Amino acid sequence: MKEEAKERLSIEKILHFLVHNSFMVTVVVMCLVHAALLGIMLVAGIGPLISYNILSVIVYLFCIILCKFGHIMPVYISIMLEVSTFTVVAVLYIGWDCAPSCFLCSIVPIILYIGSYLFKGTKRWFLVLFLALEFALYVAVFLLFGDAKPFFEVTDTLRKVLVIFSSFVMIFSMIFYTTMYIFMSEVERSSLAKKNEQLSFDAHVDVLTGLLNRRGFLPLLDELMKKKEGPSFCVAFCDIDNFKRINDSYGHDCGDEVLKHISRLIRKEMTDCDICRWGGEEIVILMKGYSFEDAKEKTEDLRKAVENAPTVFYNKRIVSTITIGLEENKRSYEEPEELIRVADGRMYYGKQHGKNILIFEDMA
Ligand code: GH3
Ligand code: MG
Ligand code: MG
Repeated sequence: MKEEAKERLSIEKILHFLVHNSFMVTVVVMCLVHAALLGIMLVAGIGPLISYNILSVIVYLFCIILCKFGHIMPVYISIMLEVSTFTVVAVLYIGWDCAPSCFLCSIVPIILYIGSYLFKGTKRWFLVLFLALEFALYVAVFLLFGDAKPFFEVTDTLRKVLVIFSSFVMIFSMIFYTTMYIFMSEVERSSLAKKNEQLSFDAHVDVLTGLLNRRGFLPLLDELMKKKEGPSFCVAFCDIDNFKRINDSYGHDCGDEVLKHISRLIRKEMTDCDICRWGGEEIVILMKGYSFEDAKEKTEDLRKAVENAPTVFYNKRIVSTITIGLEENKRSYEEPEELIRVADGRMYYGKQHGKNILIFEDMA
């Protein structure tokens, strides 16, 4: 399994390299193709094509330099002109039967691939124009010289070698650029999926505390309330006491630290609950599967835990407390807000009666 993952990683690395250097790879391969053709022509002793291929190799060496400096347009035009001219010259000198037309087909993916990088929007029509010109050239060469006797009589073996070689170049080009497209779209898709995941996480989570925000929390409570049957649950509404005073005495950064510290503490104490930063310094806890009695005990423990765990901020120990209003879910509650309002009301009562307290019944 590990080996498989390693292999996949190295294939992906190669594909990444090819995608990022695809223009350079294109011209290097074109250069190598002409170097190979030069070798074949040298063996066959076809002088004009030897000269032509030397020229082509020089052109592509220049293209490599242009590519290195990011001048893609002249490279693109050079490729189209060079291959078109080569096809005509090769058909004249060695004949249509040696399949030089395959080279013309091999640049169709290149016209599309590099062209789609160079031409955007309505300028994409240039791609259609170039493809139409390539096709027109293909047909014209076939009609004009398809049956013509070439200047050089090639041997059967040379013809076979050239047909196989040019077919290989054509198929390689198709496979290479299609692979590049597939890989690029897969990379794009997975990066979009990651971004979406992150966006949806950001939309549901509070940045400062890492707790759920209302958008992330309310659907959970709503879903639970809509299930008319199932285990009981409670909602605790917590508010940090005298939080403004902490801000005023130690600064806003310290206030943030206290908020984060208390949030961490609640998360640690209430591992089986959904916790929401309701707003400011208010935190709502959804205690799933808790009976009212268990919830009372648990929230009282939480209140004590907060009281006993001061926030340390630049060597200062800041003792903070919370007031909690608790309510259990009842059939009479239809909407999450109703249940939360009752818990909030109890918390408010606690604020008016000394703070740092748990209130679990209507006292007023
Ligand atoms: P009480 O005990 O009655 O709850 O008093 P309190 O001071 O905690 O409540 P009050 O509503 O008077 O003040 C809340 C303060 O919380 C005011 C606001 O500036 C501060 N606050 C809200 N959100 C943040 C935050 O993200 N970071 C910091 N540092 N302060 C915040
Ligand atoms: Mg407060
Ligand atoms: Mg408040």
